[in-house]
Order: sequence, then C-alpha cells, then structure tokens
Amino acid sequence: MALDPARAVADLDDLRELTGDENGAQRVAWTGTWETARDFLRQKLAGTGAVEEIDEAGNQWFTLRGSSDRALLIGGHMDSVPNGGWLDGCLNVLAGVEVVRRIAAEGTPPVTVRLVSWADEEGARFGRSLFGSSAAAGSMADQDELRQRKDLDGIALPDALREHGVDLDRALEARKQLANAAAYLELHIEQGPVLESMDLPLGVVLGTFGVERHQITWKGQAAHAGSTPMDKRRDALAAAAKLALEIRPIAAEVGNGAVCTSGNVVCRPGIVTSVVETAEQLLDQRHLDAESLARLLSLAQEASERFAAEEDVEVSWDRIWNIEPILFDERLIELADEAIREVCGTSHRLPSGPLHDAAEVARAGIPTVMIFVQSLRGLSHTKLEDTKAEHLELAVQALDRLASKALATLSA
Ligand SMILES: [Zn+2]
Repeated sequence: MALDPARAVADLDDLRELTGDENGAQRVAWTGTWETARDFLRQKLAGTGAVEEIDEAGNQWFTLRGSSDRALLIGGHMDSVPNGGWLDGCLNVLAGVEVVRRIAAEGTPPVTVRLVSWADEEGARFGRSLFGSSAAAGSMADQDELRQRKDLDGIALPDALREHGVDLDRALEARKQLANAAAYLELHIEQGPVLESMDLPLGVVLGTFGVERHQITWKGQAAHAGSTPMDKRRDALAAAAKLALEIRPIAAEVGNGAVCTSGNVVCRPGIVTSVVETAEQLLDQRHLDAESLARLLSLAQEASERFAAEEDVEVSWDRIWNIEPILFDERLIELADEAIREVCGTSHRLPSGPLHDAAEVARAGIPTVMIFVQSLRGLSHTKLEDTKAEHLELAVQALDRLASKALATLSA
C-alpha cells in the first residue's frame, strides 16, 4: 500500500465533521469531544498492527514493533482550543497515521515506529499548556500548582483528569515512554505569515524561541496637569513611552529574527488632570539564540536607565517568566530540508515563535525536528485557520520522506 496523502486530508475533513461545529474545532482536552477524537484516531489505526497504550499522563501511543527497540517517534496533539482551527495539532497526528499505514504495509520496520497524540497541548481548559509532553519529558515541576487549578465551572484539574483515567500524582511516570526514543518528528501548521509571504508550502523549523518576559515599573510624581511646568515634571509614562519605541532599534541591532513587544502600560493615577506617577509596562523579548536574547534584555535595561535619568523617574525590573531557546537536531534539520526539497523543490529554515510539544521532547535530549506547512493569512486558533489541500498533501509527503530518511539513519 503506497502513501496516499489525499486520504490523510480526507481523514482531517472527517474529523472536522465529527468534532467541530459552526464555530470551529471543539476538541478541548479532558472533554467528551476530545475522547471522540481519540476514538477516531484509534479506528484509523486499526488494521495497521500498531498497538495502543495510554500512558500515565494521558498521552495516546500507537506502537508498530520493529526489528529493534530503538524508536522513531512521530507526534502531534488531537486537542484544540475552543472554537479552534481544523488543522492545529491533528494535522501532525493524521499525517502520522498515513505514514504508519505506509510503513506497516511494507512489513516489519527496521526500528520501532511510534505515533503519539500528546494530552492537552493547548492547556485550554486549565491554562497549563504542553501537559502530556512535559510529563513525558520529565520537565513537569508544577504538580502542586496544578492540583489547585480549576476550570471556569470550578472543577479541579485532578478531578477532571481522573474522569479520563489520569492520576496527576503518577503523570511523571509517562517518562518511561521516551526511554528508547531515538528521534522525534512533528509536522505542524506554521500559524504565522512567513511561508505564505515567501510563497513556499513547507519549511524546516530550527527550534523554538527563547523568551524573556518582564514587568518594568516606572515611578515618577503625580502633579497637577495645569500648574506643573513642563520642565518640572517627573512623568513615568514619558519614560515608558521612550522604551516602547526604543525596543525597535534594539531588535534591529540584535537582528536575526529578534522580536520585542511592549504589550501593555498601566498608568496611575490614570486621570487626564495628572502627570503619570506610576507606569507598569510589560515587555516580551524573543530570540532563537541565547546570547542574542541576553543582549536584547541588557540593551533594553541600559536604555531604561538612560530614560529614567532623562525623565527623573525611578525604574525597576521584575521577571515574569522566561524560557531558554530550544534548538532542534542539526542532522534531522538536514534530513527535513532534503525531504522538503524532494517534494516541492525549495525549502526554507525558520524559527518557531509558539512553543510545541516538540520543544519538550527536545529538552529531554531526544533529537527532534519539526516541519511547518504554510498557514493561509497566518491565522490559527480560530475557525478561519486554513491551509490549501495541495499544501497539506505535500506536507504529508514530506513527513513520509523524512520518516524514511530517519528510519534509514537509525537502522544504519
Ligand atoms: Zn498545535
């Protein structure tokens, strides 16, 4: 049985019919619709000989035994955000189904092949993304906090998980699933505008951005808007505004894809008749290179000191969150590049702004790579999310080629 990319696209359409409505995909993790999607996946793999197992974190595995225990993993996530798109997550899984069908039809593979649908990638119900993959990767360190989390209806996370057979206290036991993993492949929609703007169907992902998130607090002096001369003001907003503009030349100077966003400024007292006393500014900085990310941060901090002096205000920085850049495997990046060139002539290498399950797997030390397929208008997490059918078929072909190349490498 040869690879049939159109069948994978038809499966995606069927899944959309089964688990979506007029507002989009409704496969939120730990719900009945998610179970319906998992059952759909089970049915699609029946007859391939792949053996199903659901691990302690709720990840759904299908294992095609090979001549060796070393395993090639192909993964994605069946869950979606509420009113989500028809491709985010499940494209990778259903393209993986097609690849598993092709491999199974050719007899026993040289190494074991495993398809995984990670549990709760989106974190839509409880606000905790990458649940299943972080448990398997061993990086889940927030179980105490997770125990306290509740959904909008007041249902606690551990109770919701228990209804789906998952005991939060045992989730980290999923770690043994990665014991023999030798490579991990993930195909995903880009969810951004880069490939479309270059008129390319497919690209290789180099890794996921490192992120620095800070709250910057500027403190000046509230003063009457009428009686305070312009040169006597200690205006916290003026300093914040200077920084909001300065991050553009800083991003340009550091370059290589650097992005910086001043996402909000909250002013107090926040009335039209007073100079701003306190401005709380949010800053998000991202880069694929750790040194460049550190430089983005230090340049912004230096600039803030300068603006504080100019405006005669005080400035302080508090880190909200950070994560280091996670780089994918160079050898697999080469193989993915080759696979893409073979199916559509031209490849492109790009970083990923969003985090993915692949980042968790890579953090666990397993050689990992992702392929992106173009997203129309760069939209995702909405029912408007879409990709041309011909590009989806190319994506399935590229994943299949990559899987073949990875299998050849692993069995050599
Ligand atoms: Zn996704």
